[in-house]
Amino acid sequence: MSQECIFCKIAQGVIPSKKIYEDETVFAFHDIHPQTPVHALVIPKRHLTCLDDLAVADRAEAGHLLERVAHVARELGVAAEGYRTVINTREHGGQEVAHLHIHILGGRKVGPMVCR
Ligand code: AMP
Ligand code: ZN
Repeated sequence: MSQECIFCKIAQGVIPSKKIYEDETVFAFHDIHPQTPVHALVIPKRHLTCLDDLAVADRAEAGHLLERVAHVARELGVAAEGYRTVINTREHGGQEVAHLHIHILGGRKVGPMVCR
């Protein structure tokens, strides 16, 4: 755990969150500033700063993380109509929290991807 990392603290329950799902390696919770009616974040419990921290050795963990994203989306009831997943990486990607997280955005149709 990174001492300063807000998402590490959320995964450990030190900072409260609206938890959706948890297992040994994955934690999912509602985004505090939802962009869509359903806006969840899925994170590895282990501190990885961003997608670029993933190594070949992490393939099994990464596969599980991605499969759990689909699981959480089904649990939230957005899978049938669809949803958008987003991973922002570092400054140019608009990453604000330096702990790898996957956004699930659903509950309404979102527009075409526009990068401003
Ligand atoms: P990103 O720009 O990809 O780093 O996204 C970070 C996301 O984390 C934003 O959508 C924030 O609203 C969300 N966020 C920040 N702090 C919290 C928190 N304490 N609980 C839930 N979501 C948070
Ligand atoms: Zn962290």
